[in-house]
Amino acid sequence: MGKNEFLTPKAIANRIKAKGLQKLRWYCQMCQKQCRDENGFKCHCMSESHQRQMQIFGQNPDRIVEGYSEEFEELFLEHMKRSHRSSRIQATVVYNEYIADRHHVHMNSTRWATLTEFVKHLGRTGKCKVEETPKGWFITYIDRDSETLFKEKQKNKRLRADIVEEEKQEREIRRQIEKAEQLMPLTKGEEAEKEKGEPLPLSKPDNGKIAFA
Ligand SMILES: [Zn+2]
Repeated sequence: MGKNEFLTPKAIANRIKAKGLQKLRWYCQMCQKQCRDENGFKCHCMSESHQRQMQIFGQNPDRIVEGYSEEFEELFLEHMKRSHRSSRIQATVVYNEYIADRHHVHMNSTRWATLTEFVKHLGRTGKCKVEETPKGWFITYIDRDSETLFKEKQKNKRLRADIVEEEKQEREIRRQIEKAEQLMPLTKGEEAEKEKGEPLPLSKPDNGKIAFA
């Protein structure tokens, strides 16, 4: 890079970007401590308070990483829901907004090594609709709340329909019982006469076909 290029907006932007990423690297999640550079991070790692935190981590690393992963996902989705509820948006845009909070849960403390991996996870678990495009991954938030609400409503509707249907059948059965009771005192001949003129609605037409022996 020439001397003049060093001060171009693009070069400056690149340096800021690189610095930002460096900063993400020198964050200690266990202590929630941001270090300025590699050297600062090394110093922090030797501090007594950090060592104590690492002992806690060492007792149950899986559970702690799992905890951070859950928290990362939850906050990421919370941000999606708040800011991009019904839009299809580039995953990197959401990520950059998400990490703007200095004390966000850092991805390197989660089980996802890259944003792509995390995005795929969101797609697999049905939390977002995800698509890979030449411009990178795009995600759309799936609104579970309203979806659940909708399903619940549908279920209630079905239940109500079932109840109505059951009541209808019960009424029908009662009607038939009553009718049978009315017929009881009659003699056999009269009963047969009556049935001829008024076939029971439930009687099946006998077409003589038997499909399965
Ligand atoms: Zn630390």
